[in-house]
Amino acid sequence: MADVYFIGAGPGDPELITLKGRRLLDAADLIIFAGSLVNPALLQDVHGEVIDSASMNLDEIVDRIAAAVKTGKMVARLHTGDPAMYGAITEQIDRLHALGISAAIIPGVSSVFAGAAALGQELTIPEVSQTVIMTRVEGRTPVPESESLRSLALHRSTMVIFLSVGMAEKVQTELLTAYPPDTTVAVVEKASWPEERVVRGRLNNLAHLIADAGIRKTALIYVGDALRASETPLGKESKLYHKTFSHEYRSE
Ligand code: SAH
Repeated sequence: MADVYFIGAGPGDPELITLKGRRLLDAADLIIFAGSLVNPALLQDVHGEVIDSASMNLDEIVDRIAAAVKTGKMVARLHTGDPAMYGAITEQIDRLHALGISAAIIPGVSSVFAGAAALGQELTIPEVSQTVIMTRVEGRTPVPESESLRSLALHRSTMVIFLSVGMAEKVQTELLTAYPPDTTVAVVEKASWPEERVVRGRLNNLAHLIADAGIRKTALIYVGDALRASETPLGKESKLYHKTFSHEYRSE
């Protein structure tokens, strides 16, 4: 038992929370949720008090949690997708630990996977890419120089870019330093929400695609040759299910 549970709410569809997350949410006396991206449908029948953290700063959030824990309440802190990706949970957990409050994390379905599902796409295709780089471009949060898009692009792996549709020109320019201009790109807006949208194109047209579609936030940019798989069959089959490939669970 922890005092506070950091719960991954999933990408939007209220059915994409884990059973454990759902159970803890139902049991919580206080729920603090990240209002901008968490689907309020998740909070419809909960018994606990519900607060939107959108207008709160870190001190206020930690104070609210600490006050509730002190009176024996169970607290759920609900974050969009999976809390491990751009969840800003570290500073909350550090402060809570300093106050002697224990925290546990319940994973969730990240938007990166809801987006791949919307595309109908595996992100790791044999012989095309076996690596997914999840990153962002620098906004107000700095990104270490060693992780610039330009240097990550050198791998030409599948790449998923969070928090960056507002800087599509920059994304395009940086990626074009290493990926060929006709590399497949896809943008998924509000993956798993009823208003989900998908646009597809080529890297040399990425910024236009995003501008023409009017996509300004809550979207992911997918880049790489693996993205061609949902356009045309690539004919790349894994060894795993190949009939001549025997392994621990299947002998020839
Ligand atoms: N922890 C979250 C990410 C939080 S950062 C997760 O695992 O998904 C917020 C960014 O995530 C947004 O700017 C957007 O790039 C992406 N995002 C979150 N939900 C999304 C969704 N439903 N569809 C597309 N992108 C989403």
